Amino acid sequence: MSTDLTSRPAAPALPASASPPPDLAPAGWGDPARRPGLPEHARRWLEREVGLGRPSRPGPSTQLPTSALPSAARDALRRVVGAEHVREGVAERVQHAAGRSYLDLLRLRSGVADGPDAVVLPGDADEVEQVLRACTEHGVAVVPFGGGTSVVGGLTPLRGRFPAVVSLDLRRLDRLVAVDPEALTATFEPGVRGPAAEQLLAPHGLTLGHFPQSYEHASLGGYAATRSAGQASTGYGRFDELVTAVEARTPAGPLVLGRGAATAAGPDLLGLLVGSEGAFGVLTSVTVRVRPRPAARRYEGLLFGTWQEGCAALRELEQGGLAPDVARLSDPDETRVQLALAGTSAVKRTARRRRARTSSASPSQPKTARQPLP
Ligand SMILES: Cc1cc2nc3c(=O)[nH]c(=O)nc-3n(C[C@H](O)[C@H](O)[C@H](O)COP(=O)(O)OP(=O)(O)OC[C@H]3O[C@@H](n4cnc5c(N)ncnc54)[C@H](O)[C@@H]3O)c2cc1C
Repeated sequence: MSTDLTSRPAAPALPASASPPPDLAPAGWGDPARRPGLPEHARRWLEREVGLGRPSRPGPSTQLPTSALPSAARDALRRVVGAEHVREGVAERVQHAAGRSYLDLLRLRSGVADGPDAVVLPGDADEVEQVLRACTEHGVAVVPFGGGTSVVGGLTPLRGRFPAVVSLDLRRLDRLVAVDPEALTATFEPGVRGPAAEQLLAPHGLTLGHFPQSYEHASLGGYAATRSAGQASTGYGRFDELVTAVEARTPAGPLVLGRGAATAAGPDLLGLLVGSEGAFGVLTSVTVRVRPRPAARRYEGLLFGTWQEGCAALRELEQGGLAPDVARLSDPDETRVQLALAGTSAVKRTARRRRARTSSASPSQPKTARQPLP
């Protein structure tokens, strides 16, 4: 049976220790206040390999034109979400002007020439719908914004035929709405980010098990809107396989798609919204399959002689139903970089083992012989 967590008065959306991660660095990755820095051996190695220069600083953002939001639209939006949640400052608009692809970072560092005319932060699903109505009425384009980690241009503030565009930032919709420990599903608001989702599920003994490399900042609404795949998708499933239902808000009203954890009834229109990148509406709740948290975790590394051998082994694991939850194959370059950045001792140990293996291998041994890393 599903437990509606929104009716519990004392339950905060997040425990005090788990406040949402701070925003992305203006033109980079991670919380600037917690930037760990490179270990000395890694810096030396990068200097040798790629000629490490001085990191470029975020460029000036003064090229951003003043907001073109019509004043009637501004007033309407303020009435819906409150004046403090309609933001037209340059810093906020630059922060919402791009995702985090390489091209986005270049654009952010060389001086952003365009951005949304305003950033609007609704507090709940009804406000999302009212914002969409107001924007429709006043001819303003809307780009939903989750964690801001898109790498395919999904956050580019395109105006199209409209005079203005707003970025609809969903970070205030950050609650775990309901958990069903029998069906093993959980319903989240879309602004919950990866680490917060795990923290919210932990007291229930559950995990979402979705760990894309952008996990730290990406949101559940963003995962669903982009059909995200994560490191553990081999075991837990890609995000589109985890979603059982969504609610989207559109200017014409709510759209609720998907039913229980499994259904044979059709047609299934859920796939219209999962992966839609916000084209058909704004996802305001996402129901996903969850799993009991694993009692133990085991990590192993295997070194293959060639890329082809690695591919063959992974294919065999997957097709034989033996693949672990996380199975990642690194090509020779990635392996070399990872080992070098981990420290010289790891490189030496691996090299020694590889030499030992090579010298002891008889010609009749299969080339797929594998050597566990320490
Ligand atoms: C360093 C890095 C590593 C990455 N690793 C992975 C990876 O391992 N696997 C992977 O799949 N992707 C990866 N990505 C890409 C990106 O992180 C994913 O696409 C992620 O799912 C986007 O989530 P987000 O919350 O940041 O969404 P955003 O970037 O904010 O938005 C993405 C798109 O979805 C729309 N959108 C966002 N929220 C909603 C909503 N509630 N309703 C409707 N539309 C919405 C936006 O308008 C936009 O079109 C990576 C990106 C970076 C920068």
